[in-house]
Amino acid sequence: MPHRNVDHAEISKFEELAARWWDPNSEFRPLHEINPLRLEYVERQAGGLAGKRVVDVGCGGGLLAEGMAARGAEVTGIDMGGSNLEVARLHLLESGLEVEYRQISAERLAEEQAGEYDLVTCMEMLEHVPDPASVVRACAELARPGATVVFSTINRNPKAYLFAIVGAEYLLRLLPKGTHDYSRFIRPSELDRWIRAAGLRTRDLTGMTYNPLTRTYRLDPGDVDVNYLIAAEKPDA
Ligand code: SAH
Repeated sequence: MPHRNVDHAEISKFEELAARWWDPNSEFRPLHEINPLRLEYVERQAGGLAGKRVVDVGCGGGLLAEGMAARGAEVTGIDMGGSNLEVARLHLLESGLEVEYRQISAERLAEEQAGEYDLVTCMEMLEHVPDPASVVRACAELARPGATVVFSTINRNPKAYLFAIVGAEYLLRLLPKGTHDYSRFIRPSELDRWIRAAGLRTRDLTGMTYNPLTRTYRLDPGDVDVNYLIAAEKPDA
């Protein structure tokens, strides 16, 4: 079935804003601000990026994909939003970097390129997908034995509701209203379960916290209440 696991209303939300992916003062500001932290985390978990074959699933305008390419990775970025990819491709002209962008679902790419990637990243995407476990499975299939797979998403609990929706969308207006749907948030225990069911092993769980007073984000292994990253590995065959 073609692209069954895609919520087109979700994709449209991002496509409507696509022209502003690279504007650090736009709706995408939070992604720009967390990008260095995510890159640092991914680079550490992957044991370096230079020369690695990487696929970034749900790459949007390419913020993380370009960051990884700048550190020497050979990156493929996939997204189901065509205008996101157009903007991502245009930005390569500015940055002079090389990334291959494709409009294809993770599930489809996994049929084509199973076991071909040293590193799979999937950031702030699972909470926009009807069946996130299916994306986790596809990410696991894309990874070669020994590869690292990194996910980031938002936890589901009253504090996450308060920070990620009330705080970010209504009080601080960091994100447009309606960006996130609470019922789609994912507990680390749930993500870990899908990771294990896909044949991966969780290696690390780290929070990404926002301090509204200093307006800064940081990685905090002790606080996974709201935003968090999970690194997993595919066991050697
Ligand atoms: N990973 C990027 C963008 C996050 S925004 C970053 O963190 O910078 C979420 C992205 O997921 C959007 O670009 C949206 O188009 C994409 N997306 C949502 N559902 C998808 C699906 N089923 N397959 C591929 N991409 C999807």
